Amino acid sequence: MIKIITIIGARPQFIKASALSREIAKHNSITEIIVHTGQHFDANMSDIFFEQMEIPKPHYNLDINGLGHGAMTGQMLQKIEEVLIKEKPDWVLVYGDTNSTIAGALAAKKLHIKVAHVEAGLRSFNMDMPEEVNRILTDRISDVLFCPTDTAITNLKKEGYDNIDTRIVKSGDIMQDAAIFYSKKEQKPNIEIPKEFILATIHRAENTDDPKRLGDILDALNGIAKQTPIILPLHPRTAKIIKNTEFNTQNLTIIEPVGYLEMVYMLNKCKLVMTDSGGLQKEAFFFAKPCMTMRDETEWIELIENNFNVLVGANKSKIINTYYNHNFNNEYNVDLYGNGIAAKNIANNL
Ligand code: UDP
Repeated sequence: MIKIITIIGARPQFIKASALSREIAKHNSITEIIVHTGQHFDANMSDIFFEQMEIPKPHYNLDINGLGHGAMTGQMLQKIEEVLIKEKPDWVLVYGDTNSTIAGALAAKKLHIKVAHVEAGLRSFNMDMPEEVNRILTDRISDVLFCPTDTAITNLKKEGYDNIDTRIVKSGDIMQDAAIFYSKKEQKPNIEIPKEFILATIHRAENTDDPKRLGDILDALNGIAKQTPIILPLHPRTAKIIKNTEFNTQNLTIIEPVGYLEMVYMLNKCKLVMTDSGGLQKEAFFFAKPCMTMRDETEWIELIENNFNVLVGANKSKIINTYYNHNFNNEYNVDLYGNGIAAKNIANNL
C-alpha cells in the first residue's frame, strides 16, 4: 500500500486535486490523505469548491490564512511537518506554485519523504513573482516532476536537470482533465448573463499592487464594456483596492468570486477571456475561446506561439487594439496539454 499526502490550499489547487483524487481513488494500492492548509482567501468559497467538485473532505485543516508570506509559509512548514511525522507517508504530492506548495515540499524533503510536484517545470522568468520563487525551489527538491507541457521539460533541461537525480515525467495538464470532466456540469451563476459578454479576472499582485497598472487595465476594460458587457468575478484582494480608490469601473459587471461550475458556465458562453490568471489562460483554450493575458509574460507560451492568446500587459492601447483588431487562431483542435490524460499518467507513475 502506498500512502500519499496531498497538500492543497488555494483555489486552483482544489480544481487540480479534484481531478487527480478521483483517479487515485480507483487505485486500491494507494491511500490519499488530504491536508488543506487554509491558504484560500475565503473559507465559505473553499467549502463550495469541495462540495461542487466532490473532493474528499480534508483529513487535516490547518487553517493558516491572512498572513504575510513569511509567517504563512513558516506556520505551514511547522504544521505540515507535524502531520508528516504522525502519518509517515511514502509520498507528498504538491501542486503548482503557492506558499502551500513550497511549504509541503520542504517539510517532506527534510524528513526524507519523497516529493511529487504536479505542474513542474513552468517558468515565467520573472523572479519578482512569488509564484516563480515557489515553483523553482519546489522543482529543485522534488523526486518526481510531473510536467504539463514540452516547454516545461525544456525549461528543466536548460536548468541542468539532466544532471539532477530527479524523475521527469511528461504527464499532460491536470487542469484539462478537470475542464473536460466538469464541462457538462456547468451551473448558471446567480446573475443575468448577457447573450454576448467578455469574462475577465484580475488578481495577480503585479497588477493589483501597482495603481498605474491596475488603473490602465480598468480604464481599458471599462471602455470596452460600453459596447460589450464584461463580467468580472473579483478576487477580494482586487476588490479591496478598487473600493478604496477612484478607478473607472462603472461599466463593468463586478461580481463576487464564483464556484468552478459557474466559471465553467461562463467559459462555455463567453465571447473572449481577459485575465492575469494562469489557469484561466488554459481554460480559455480548453473552452475554445480567445484570450488576452494582462501580464508581461506567461508560463503557457504555447498558447502565445499558436496565437490563441495575446500578451497585452497593462498597456491600455494594446488591450483595446488587440480586442478590436487581433485575428486569433480559432483552430482549437490541437493537443497542447494531453487532452485529459494527466490524472491517469500521474496516478500510474506514483
Ligand atoms: N476561478 C473560479 N472562480 C472565480 C475565479 C476563478 O473558480 O471566481 C477558477 C478559474 O476558472 C481557474 C482557477 O480558479 O480554474 C484559477 O485560479 P486563480 O486565478 O486564483 O489562480 P492561478 O491559476 O492564476 O494560479
